[in-house]
Amino acid sequence: MDEYLAKLLDVIDKNSLDVDKKFIIESYEFAKEWHNGQKRESGEEYISHPAAVACILAEMKMDTLSIAGGLFHDLLEDTSFTYEMFVKKFGVELADIVDGVTKLTMIELKTREEMFAENVRKMFLAMSKDIRVLIIKLADRLHNMRTLNFKSEKKQKEISRETLEIYAPLAHRLGMSKIKWELEDLSLRYSNPEAFYEIVVAIQEKRVEREQYISYVVDMLKENLNEKGIPNDIEGRPKHFYSIYRKMHDKNKTIDQIFDLTAIRVIVNTVNECYAVLGIVHTIFKPIPGRFKDYIAVPKPNMYQSLHSTLIGPHGKTFEIQIRTFEMHKIAEYGIAAHWKYKEGIEESAASDIKLAWIREILEWQNEIKDSKEFMESLKNDLITDEVYLFTPKGAVIDLPYGSTPIDFAYKIHTDVGNKCVGAKVDGKMVPLDFKLSNGQIVEILTSNNAKGPNLDWISVVKSSSAKSKIKSWFKKQLREENIVKGKELLEREAKKQGFNFGEVFKTDIFETIIKKANLYNFDDLYAAVGVGDINASSIVTKIRDQLHPKHKQTDEELLKDLQDKIEGEKLKKVKKGKVDVLVKGEQNILVRFAKCCNPVPGDKIVGFVTQGRGVSVHRSDCVNFHNLMMQDGNKQIEVEWANEGKGKYSTSLQINGEDREWLVSDIASVLSEYKVHMDSINAKANKDKTAIISISISVQNIDDIKFIIKKIKRLNGVSDIFRTTN
Ligand code: MN
Repeated sequence: MDEYLAKLLDVIDKNSLDVDKKFIIESYEFAKEWHNGQKRESGEEYISHPAAVACILAEMKMDTLSIAGGLFHDLLEDTSFTYEMFVKKFGVELADIVDGVTKLTMIELKTREEMFAENVRKMFLAMSKDIRVLIIKLADRLHNMRTLNFKSEKKQKEISRETLEIYAPLAHRLGMSKIKWELEDLSLRYSNPEAFYEIVVAIQEKRVEREQYISYVVDMLKENLNEKGIPNDIEGRPKHFYSIYRKMHDKNKTIDQIFDLTAIRVIVNTVNECYAVLGIVHTIFKPIPGRFKDYIAVPKPNMYQSLHSTLIGPHGKTFEIQIRTFEMHKIAEYGIAAHWKYKEGIEESAASDIKLAWIREILEWQNEIKDSKEFMESLKNDLITDEVYLFTPKGAVIDLPYGSTPIDFAYKIHTDVGNKCVGAKVDGKMVPLDFKLSNGQIVEILTSNNAKGPNLDWISVVKSSSAKSKIKSWFKKQLREENIVKGKELLEREAKKQGFNFGEVFKTDIFETIIKKANLYNFDDLYAAVGVGDINASSIVTKIRDQLHPKHKQTDEELLKDLQDKIEGEKLKKVKKGKVDVLVKGEQNILVRFAKCCNPVPGDKIVGFVTQGRGVSVHRSDCVNFHNLMMQDGNKQIEVEWANEGKGKYSTSLQINGEDREWLVSDIASVLSEYKVHMDSINAKANKDKTAIISISISVQNIDDIKFIIKKIKRLNGVSDIFRTTN
């Protein structure tokens, strides 16, 4: 048996613990074997640390599994021994305790510098399903603090700060004041050595004087209590350094100005005796008004109970007295640990009961306390958390709102992980994606590159708002992609309509300018905006065209020439017009032809004029020529009417007046081609005053076609007038 084990067994014996020593020895040997070859910074065998942690737990009178847990607490972290091996060898209860401590250690390492201390504390509490996990972790930290001198100064300060911010408050919350004080004093020593040693020296200087004083008071009290037959245990000792430091610091006092450097503690058997002792004390020493506190009637939130009073002692020096029962004392020093132990003792509870759902437990105790407001407040702040803390397979901590699912987890890791998520394992087992995660679970997200993306249902399944918005934005993006395709098609179609190939211009600087002007970032933005209908395709295409200025005039002139050439070519091929759809009233077989001056079309009011030898020529009733002819020879008018209306094609002439702008000819040609109206001729003339006159002849079926085309052309930019002409 080595020295560390010997010491542990000694502590167990001294505290007369009813634990399974054989199991503890076995555990010790096992842990030692696995840590074999590892050293601490002090140069000692690594096992010295778990052994010391186990000793601290034994001093706290913890049970077999807690002490064994202390021996094993670094095993999963530092060796290749696994949780599964642990379950097999020592059972699931101990395995879970050790695993719990390991998880806290992982949080501690991962969250350093990253999280607020308060959150880490919450996380610790939320994580520790079994109170023993937290107690072992505190013991571990205490021993690390005790051996902090082997670390670098930087590490000492870092770890001390962490201890003050996380571990000491946790110990306080759990009522474990003995550990809390030591953690605080050690932290002060390393984080502010000057202040620490100043207090140490100041207290040391007056040590003899104070000890004399204390022993005088203690003797006097003992005498009185023994006289009254009250069995008691009285001790007097200086308060811990950190609380003196805080008082000096917070209240800006010198060490001499602090009242109660010394506290005298009277421990008795019963509550009645506590009050009896208080009465006796107050008859011997004069109490300072307003300094009496009854924490027996109104315990502190962490279950601390005692009577406190500050008294004026010999030579007018004040001291504080604390009066409590042995039971209260145990709770005052070990807090929740003491209570848990105590409870186990009286209830002989089953193993399942030992694994306390201890938050509920504290709540139950608290019901017995009258003033629970303060407690509820602190509970709200510290204990009940609306978050769950989870692990990635690599041990990173992920915090999510309570009720979160593997989908939330996936999105918290990365948006891509969420979008590609196809399944999840929790603690190694497949779970459905709407599985509600709970504290400490290890979550593994299964992804696939073939995943189609999130499911719309997920929005109602996820708990975290960030996952929700990420899923929504995925769908928005999907929609956007559809809109991009649609927008591109619209632009291409519109470009074709306006007479150019979209593909040829879309890479040009012109396009960039348009995108910038529209406050967009790239082509896709533009396509999407067109696709969704925010921007009109034709307005973009017109802009592109207007931007194509230099090439433009040439193109327009060329187009005009092209059109004329094309028309000329068609005329050559043109077969002679068939039967004219006009009848001379009451007559058959009279030759009818259309006058070239006014080009009537079905729907126009028409009149006939009997010519010499060339049959009847048909004019529009409003034709100027016809009226001139009538002036010469009024007898030759003859009534005519349209026959089978709308079958043939009739040529008519239009004049368009407008500004001499680029692409006007092209625009007109586009309109005609869009509505499949055949153009028989076209001419354009630009005037010096920047106006233009464009004459076109088109073939239509009837007057409605003409009206329609006039309406369309009239809408074109720069067109001021359009009307039918006569020659
Ligand atoms: Mn450790």
